[in-house]
Amino acid sequence: MSAETLLFLLLPVAAASGWVLARRQDSDSNETSHLPPDYFRGLSYLLDDQHDKAIDIFIRMLEEDSETVELHLAVGNLFRNRGEVDRAIRIHQNLVNRTTLSDEQRIQARFELGEDYMRAGLLDGAENLFRELVEKGEYLPESLRHLIDIYQQEKDWQKAIDAGFKLEQSGVTDVRPMIAQHYCELTEEALKRGDLKQAQQMLKHARATWPQCVRASLIEGEMAMETERYEDARLAFQRIEQQDADYLPEVIPMLQECYRKTGTQQQMLDYLQTMVERHGSLGIMLALAEMICEQQGGQQAAAALLDYLEKHPSLRGLDQFVGLVSRCGDTPDQRVLAGVGSIINRLVEDDPDYLCRNCGFQGKVLHWQCPSCKSWGTVKPLHGIQRKQKRDRVLSLVVS
Ligand SMILES: [Zn+2]
Repeated sequence: MSAETLLFLLLPVAAASGWVLARRQDSDSNETSHLPPDYFRGLSYLLDDQHDKAIDIFIRMLEEDSETVELHLAVGNLFRNRGEVDRAIRIHQNLVNRTTLSDEQRIQARFELGEDYMRAGLLDGAENLFRELVEKGEYLPESLRHLIDIYQQEKDWQKAIDAGFKLEQSGVTDVRPMIAQHYCELTEEALKRGDLKQAQQMLKHARATWPQCVRASLIEGEMAMETERYEDARLAFQRIEQQDADYLPEVIPMLQECYRKTGTQQQMLDYLQTMVERHGSLGIMLALAEMICEQQGGQQAAAALLDYLEKHPSLRGLDQFVGLVSRCGDTPDQRVLAGVGSIINRLVEDDPDYLCRNCGFQGKVLHWQCPSCKSWGTVKPLHGIQRKQKRDRVLSLVVS
């Protein structure tokens, strides 16, 4: 008998013991004699992996004796946890249809059936059950979370927002960052349709719901750039520093564009310098080094970057240093440098560019909703370096 089978056997027994104890008061004799023979036949079918036969027996037991409800709930949940969702649905569905259940049992059975439907991807069925539970004020946070999950999958952002606010009302904190993301989704949908007015409205909601929303600032800046309001765009992008400075490297190229358009590149240089001092981000330092390289030459840029690397040593930074020096600096031996560069590049090649701070998911693109743990705004840029640029540069370095 495998450990899993044993567990499967023991858990229903444990669940049924409540039922056994309840019966014990009727008589002082050995309590196992109160377990109906069908119960053991059901268990032996479970042991033989004849799960459907076991279910038939359990369902018949329920018809004859409604006190086995707890056992049914336990067996149904076990099937679901084992991934046998169809069987879990059969059991829970049967429970829901019983007329002899107490209100509390019926509600629990409905909730469990909703969980089965979620697991099976039967979103419509799950939505109906959870909406009903929410209307009754039962299983509130759990049902609302499932509804939000469903609406997110269906990209029904407005319904997700409504459920989000209900979740907050039910006493759950920290849902606002998620709601703001939903408003950002609506904003981007409106932008795709070309409905600028709606986009602005939704963006306003995002900001009002959660003023720290980085994505809202990013979209606001991009929208301002679209209509050549570069000063507004700059202010929106710069707001990200206060919201979550980890995202700053993501907007540096657009900020540079804004400064270029408004003709104040010295300000951009000062700004980047301040950001490096405050946050010590390699991504920002690299942007600064590029600007110094353009304006003052390679040696100045290399000196600034080397100075930074002495304070914040990193393989990635060294890799970038080699690239920078080779491109615009005075170096004694290009070939040595190329060799060093390619070795370092090999070492950093497999590094992800983005990392979920919640679950550790790693990726190459920025996901606002983590594909792995579904958290919003937890995937953050690690370095702010475009991999392709880096690879191309190292290649050209090695070739030349
Ligand atoms: Zn994650």
